[in-house]
Amino acid sequence: MTENALMPTYNRFPVDFVRGEGAVLVSAEGRRYLDALSGIAVCGLGHAHPEIAAAVADQAKTLIHTSNLYGVPLQSALAARLASAAGMSNVFFCNSGTEANEAAIKIARRYAHQRRVQNPVILAFDGAFHGRTMGALSATGSARAHAGFDPLLPGFEHVPFGDMRAVKKRIARGDVVAVMVEPIQGENGVVVPRPGFLAALRALTARHEILLVADEVQTGVGRTGKLFACAHEDVVPDVLTIAKALGNGVPIGACLAHNAAAEVLAPGQHGSTFGGNPLAARAGLTVLDVIEREGILENAAHMGERLQTGLAARLADCALVTAVRGRGLMVGVALDRPCAELAARALERGLLINVAAGQVIRLLPPLIVNAAQVDEIVSTVADLVEAFAVEQSSQRAAS
Ligand code: PLP
Repeated sequence: MTENALMPTYNRFPVDFVRGEGAVLVSAEGRRYLDALSGIAVCGLGHAHPEIAAAVADQAKTLIHTSNLYGVPLQSALAARLASAAGMSNVFFCNSGTEANEAAIKIARRYAHQRRVQNPVILAFDGAFHGRTMGALSATGSARAHAGFDPLLPGFEHVPFGDMRAVKKRIARGDVVAVMVEPIQGENGVVVPRPGFLAALRALTARHEILLVADEVQTGVGRTGKLFACAHEDVVPDVLTIAKALGNGVPIGACLAHNAAAEVLAPGQHGSTFGGNPLAARAGLTVLDVIEREGILENAAHMGERLQTGLAARLADCALVTAVRGRGLMVGVALDRPCAELAARALERGLLINVAAGQVIRLLPPLIVNAAQVDEIVSTVADLVEAFAVEQSSQRAAS
C-alpha cells in the first residue's frame, strides 16, 4: 500500500481492491473476496452494477455539475421520488451522512427559534452514531468519538437507547425541540430496540410538537428489507436522513422533511456546492429504479432471514455468542468479549466483515447477495467464531 502521504485517520487492512463484480471484490494480487460489508452499507447493488455504471458514464458524458444557482432537473426528479416513497414533503441534497444530519440539526435549531424555545435541546441516544462533523459529532452518543474534540456544540443531550421513560422524563422539562434516533444503531453493534419503540417515540414527539429526526444513513435505501426502516413500524418522521446506499458509491446524502420541518429553511440559510448535482442525482435515480425493478427489497428481506437463521443455528451452542440480531441484511453477531481480530482473520479467509463496538461482528452484504453467498458467509463466520471460542477457552485453561 502507498499511503505515506495520507493523514493517518484509518487503520487499514493490508489489501488494495482494484475491481469488483456483484458481491465479489478482487485485490491487486488477483485474489477474490466475498464482500459482506458493501463499503459499510454503501454498495447495496453490489460492485460494478452494469446499469449504474452505464448511467454514471452516460451522465459524465452529458453533464456532471452545474450549480444549485440553477435548476437541476435530475435533482428535482430524485427529490420527488424520495419524498413520495418516504411520505415526506421535500428534500435537501448534500454529499454524505454527516452532512444530511447537519441539515437536520439546522432545521431543528431554526424550528426552536421560530417557536421561541430558549436554549433548545436536541435529544439523542447513548451509543448513537450520527457522523464526524462537529454538529453530528455532538449528537453522537459516544465518549470515545468525542474524546479530544471539545468543546462540542451545546444543546445536545443523551438518554439510554430504547428507554421511553428516560425520553419522557427529559421531554417534560419543555426545552427539547427534536429527538434524533437511528431505527437500528449500526456503529454501536447492530442494536435493535424493542418492537414499538420507534412508534412510541413518534406518538410522544407528535404530542409535544417535537421533531422526530430519523437517521437512516445506515438503515435506509433497502438495507433492512424496506426502503426505509421506519416503515417497519409505519412511522413517518418529521426529518429523515439518508446517504450511503443512495448513490451505490457515488457520494450523495439527503435530508427529507415533512410537516412544519419542511417549511423551516429559506433561501440562503443552508446550501452545498455539490449537493444533488446531475451525476449524483442520476446515480440516485438509477439506484431507485433498480431497487424497484429487480425486487431488491424482497431479496434483502429473504437473504437477511437466511443469514440470521443460518448463523443462529450454527452458533446456538457457542457460549461466547450472546445474540444474533438485526433486520434484513443488517446483521450482528454479538460476543461476550472483544473480538476485533476476527475481521483480519475473515479477510485471510477471503471474506470482508467488520467488528463494531469492539465485540459485535457486523454483516452488511450487498442487497443483491444470493443464497450460496449467504451460506458461505454463515459458514466462514461460524467457523471463525467457533475457532475463536476454542482458542479463548484454551487460553483460560493455560492461565
Ligand atoms: N449516521 C449513521 C447512522 C451512520 O451509520 C453514519 C456512518 O456510518 C453516519 C451518520 C455518517 O455518515 P458519513 O460517513 O457518510 O458522513
